[in-house]
Amino acid sequence: MMSTLHDDFIRHVGQTSPFPNGIEVERAEGCWIYDCAGRCYLDMIAGISVVNVGHCHPRVMEAVRRQAGLYAHTMVYGEHVQAPQVELAREIARVAPEGLDAVYFLTTGAEANDAALKMAVKLTGRRGICAFHNSYHGDTLGALACFGAESYRGPFRSLLPDVTFLSFGSFSDLERIDGTTAAVIVEPVQGEGGIQIPPDGWLAALRARCGETDALLIFDEVQTGFGRAGDWFAARRYHVTPDVITAAKGMGAGYPLAGLIASREMLWRFAAEPPFSHITTFGGNPVSCAAGLASIGVIRDENLLEHANRMGQLLMEKLEQCAGQGPQIRHVRGVGFMIGVELDSAQRARTAVYRCRQMGVLLETTLLNGCVVRFSPPLIITAEQCLEAVDAFARSLT
Ligand code: PLP
Repeated sequence: MMSTLHDDFIRHVGQTSPFPNGIEVERAEGCWIYDCAGRCYLDMIAGISVVNVGHCHPRVMEAVRRQAGLYAHTMVYGEHVQAPQVELAREIARVAPEGLDAVYFLTTGAEANDAALKMAVKLTGRRGICAFHNSYHGDTLGALACFGAESYRGPFRSLLPDVTFLSFGSFSDLERIDGTTAAVIVEPVQGEGGIQIPPDGWLAALRARCGETDALLIFDEVQTGFGRAGDWFAARRYHVTPDVITAAKGMGAGYPLAGLIASREMLWRFAAEPPFSHITTFGGNPVSCAAGLASIGVIRDENLLEHANRMGQLLMEKLEQCAGQGPQIRHVRGVGFMIGVELDSAQRARTAVYRCRQMGVLLETTLLNGCVVRFSPPLIITAEQCLEAVDAFARSLT
């Protein structure tokens, strides 16, 4: 008997867990994913906060086609002058907090966090890193060392030795940042930790403590960036300017792209002496940069930041109304379009996600908090589609 595509997916494609959701994707457009059997799914996840302007936005497709027809790769990162990279860096400097005026292009979020940690150690001459419990920064060795869950770090020791874990949102723990700290790495809103919102004033206090101790403050905006948290960056939303922002996911609008966003002077010191201190073949792939540039244009021209805040608010209100109807929902929280609903058990959350999928609505739990169902749709989603998703979610709980 011929093996099916699904059989060969299990047999020949490396698996990340024993329970992949296994949708056989044929195509995707806007907020919809279509499978090979002709079913369509309302995508409330956006590839985990990646396709912020929706799947196959016509302006992104046009930019990708145009750039793919010109060139894809001409030289390792940093040698040739490539217009899509330069134009994207210029646009990012416009929308990033003041002073963060240059981009060091990379390919993945974990790689960007590793590079930010390297930069902090080199620039400060210190070794200590502070990270937070329940944080997720990616799975390369450096990022993994800062993963705020011992169960994920343990099997891979030894890792970076001088990482101290603080409690996210704790003002008193900020005292543990001191003169030995090279960097503090923090997600301004924790994503995989279950959509955890920082308490009022806490990011500003963190900024102040890093200033007092001359530790670099790294905002991991891999998930929160490019509109997801309702502004270009969460740093802007919370009016706190870190020394470095790491970005990926939404930056390439579906194409692999990441970057360190910092002052030109810092990026220069990072990569120089010796020259080529951090090299990467595929950093800032021109096709990905063209996609990212088009996507910034879409976010701006379609007013998607404002739209995301409005629709996110609507979605939260409707989810809160569901919460009023039964004890299963413990808490609804979010900023922009990064929304989490905490249920009374991980089993309930898994079942809700499964039932919603059966009803044609894609949701996911968060990696480190299985009780939380996340809603992070493309920012272009309509009010009607939000209501459809909430309706399916409410039914999945009965
Ligand atoms: N940082 C955060 C906050 C993330 O959510 C993720 C991925 O989910 C990463 C880093 C890792 O990014 P990547 O998978 O591109 O390495």
